[in-house]
Amino acid sequence: MTGAGASSNIVLPDGIRPSDGRFGSGPSRVPHEAVAALADAADGYLGTSHRRTGVRSVVARLQAGLAELFSLPEDWEVVLGNGGATGLWDCLGFGLIRRRSQHLAFGEFSAKFARAVQAVPHLEAPQIVEAPFGTHPEPVPADVDVYALTHNETSTGVQMPLRRPPEVGAVDGLVAVDATSGAGGLRWDPAEVDVYYFSPQKCFAADGGLWVACCSPAALERIAEIGDSGRWCPPTLSLPLAVKNSAANQTYNTPALATVFLTLQTVEWMCSKGGLEWAAGRCDASAETIYGWAEASDYAQPFVTEEAERSHVVATIDVDADVADAGRIATVLRANGIVDTESYRALGRNQLRISLFPAIPPGDVAALCACIDHIVARL
Ligand SMILES: *Cc1c(COP(=O)(O)O)cnc(C)c1O
Repeated sequence: MTGAGASSNIVLPDGIRPSDGRFGSGPSRVPHEAVAALADAADGYLGTSHRRTGVRSVVARLQAGLAELFSLPEDWEVVLGNGGATGLWDCLGFGLIRRRSQHLAFGEFSAKFARAVQAVPHLEAPQIVEAPFGTHPEPVPADVDVYALTHNETSTGVQMPLRRPPEVGAVDGLVAVDATSGAGGLRWDPAEVDVYYFSPQKCFAADGGLWVACCSPAALERIAEIGDSGRWCPPTLSLPLAVKNSAANQTYNTPALATVFLTLQTVEWMCSKGGLEWAAGRCDASAETIYGWAEASDYAQPFVTEEAERSHVVATIDVDADVADAGRIATVLRANGIVDTESYRALGRNQLRISLFPAIPPGDVAALCACIDHIVARL
């Protein structure tokens, strides 16, 4: 590591540091208040049966809180299960896709779901619509029964608006959205979506392991139809079993109780502050700060060129390689307790990736920008 000596000695002055050093895109910053609330509740909650009222009432509050946060219509269900969003992809291959799906692939996560479906023996080869990294494709009306969209592509920092593909009214295509890093930070309209799913370790500032899927009546109907069709499905991946257990405020098998609790903390915090509009507004403020800083900088710029496609929950910032090595900046930040600003490796860019999730105060994002300027001036 030639030349690393000087940079590794850069110490950030106390006055410019953010209040908390966690800027990772998942697992992401868990507020101290939420951890303290869990510790306070622990004796009556952790280590108790998930089939009894103590835990089931927390699950029920989580389901009700999410319905409120997202303004879900009365006839939607909030379904939960174990395995995170990646586990849910396998569930969708068994229990939501009838014959063929269309996937918008524009980064690591969206492409991974498409690849998982390609390998499912009882389905036809999916239709994959790609776009270069840093942009997103549009859904194309087609003879498919599921359109797989991604609200925010975490690997590239691209967000997309959720709209049903045009002229599919008569066609039976459900819109299923991987909102793992977008849910809770980006706006959406349930009228445009059938399944809105996520893991809680991103905007919901909890721990991983759980999946949550908000399901429209059309989605619930499809789940029941495929469940009755005789298609074999392993019980842990069964959506009908997940729907049935969720209706009783449970999961099919034991969930991580701390994850459920921490997710509820964030959902109720957001609802008490003004709901999704408030949380999304906070992300807007952070986005304005970081992209404004990058555009004004003479060595950094937003990776995503189209302003509307720039994510308000995960920012990707390119650094001029002649001025500084982004990996070096991230290393110095890490040495100063500011962690997980490294870019997504497969992108292969001289880049920093910084989460703007609701639990991160916009003032911390501004402080991080000042810290990066401080380091670059001394590299
Ligand atoms: C993090 C992430 C996933 C994977 O979530 P797991 O909980 O690890 O399964 C999937 N999709 C997107 C968009 C993500 O950001």
